[in-house]
Amino acid sequence: MNFVSTRNAGVRAPFLEALFLGLAPDGGLFYPDSEPDLRAVMERFDGATPFAELAVALTEALFPEEFSPDDARALCTAAFPFSPALRKIDDRHFLLELFHGPSCAFKDFGASFLAAAMERRLRIDDERAVILVATSGDTGSAVAHAFHRRKNIDVVVLYPSGRVSPLQEKQLTTLGDNVAALEVLGSFDDCQRMVKEAFVDETLRASINLTSANSINVGRLIPQSFYYVWAAAQLDRDADGPPAFCVPSGNFGNLTAGVFAWRWGMRAARFIAASNENDVVPEYLDSGVYTPRPSVQTLANAMDVGAPSNFERLRKIFDDRQLDIRDTLSGYRASDDEIVSTMQRWYRERGLVVCPHTAAGIHAVERFRADGFTGTVVTLATAHPAKFLEVCESVLGMRPDIPARLARLLDLEKHTTAIEPELAPLRELLMERYG
Ligand SMILES: *Cc1c(COP(=O)(O)O)cnc(C)c1O
Repeated sequence: MNFVSTRNAGVRAPFLEALFLGLAPDGGLFYPDSEPDLRAVMERFDGATPFAELAVALTEALFPEEFSPDDARALCTAAFPFSPALRKIDDRHFLLELFHGPSCAFKDFGASFLAAAMERRLRIDDERAVILVATSGDTGSAVAHAFHRRKNIDVVVLYPSGRVSPLQEKQLTTLGDNVAALEVLGSFDDCQRMVKEAFVDETLRASINLTSANSINVGRLIPQSFYYVWAAAQLDRDADGPPAFCVPSGNFGNLTAGVFAWRWGMRAARFIAASNENDVVPEYLDSGVYTPRPSVQTLANAMDVGAPSNFERLRKIFDDRQLDIRDTLSGYRASDDEIVSTMQRWYRERGLVVCPHTAAGIHAVERFRADGFTGTVVTLATAHPAKFLEVCESVLGMRPDIPARLARLLDLEKHTTAIEPELAPLRELLMERYG
């Protein structure tokens, strides 16, 4: 499998090259140029297959020219010391818990694979790279943890001062070593602009190998397909009919990864796009009209995206292949009130605390059932509720148990460098440290 740009099929790159480039040189998104039939590989998996083993087999099957069996094993063992978990809610509903990694959100899977793959490549080539990311919270913490102490790589995370939660700030600022946190005296948009400007700055380009790690990177996207396949294998024994997957969505990377897995042969009845009030995709599925717009702030803030970057890829899958997107994808919107009432009801009736994003997913499943679906549904639980302490406290009147790997951070001291929201001080700092 190689990758082509969504804008021009003549712009191509093998996996590892696409992974270092991030965006295609023509500004498009990289997209797989083929849809391998992996059913024979998937048939070997069952409920006992460890996640890392499954990742090895899929990596090898997808990229035989880039990873020997030994390479695939070394890569996936380094990337996945953690695993997803499937929690049974009732006979027809399962939560796919994706928050058992270092930063307690699903982004750990993609970020960790990307970091391990970059490290291997840089060490072989005896080169160094600096990862530059802007974050409003979740992405930065996943990337920082994934790259922490990797060889030949430094990470610089820009975050808006005072606008990430206290716990998220600890996740970004307490790791140290090769991870530097810059506290930008501005907004998230300022952080993003500074990163974009840095990537095209002549001085920086001439002396530092700057690389991105944002969610459009195929090195993050592809490994996210793996846990769908893993969940489907867990269910095979007792499931009646293929499961539907419900995905709390913002930029739609996670959902796109699931659709890839299905195109490679994974059994799936349907995909459900769960949005918050930023509902451009559910609206498109209803009306056929796609209207990207500025995002609005909600309780499920990692899904506050008004112009989902992966929509371009989803379109490609469906339009180019003459499939009707509505045969595969349903969409539902959850208001903040619906998120709150779902969290409260699940806590009251089941004693289960779910994060606001997962609650938007559960709300969508309930609507999907009301619309007549009777099969099995797997809802992706995208983050640990303890990442959203303030929301849980105000909505449920309780403080969820904090996993040890998060609790530990609360006592550590933050190390940041405050910086004005301009390119000049960023350039100076990068040149001084890495130039
Ligand atoms: C990033 C994120 C999402 C949205 O994922 P996309 O791939 O952008 O659709 C949902 N929930 C949580 C907790 C996230 O961190």
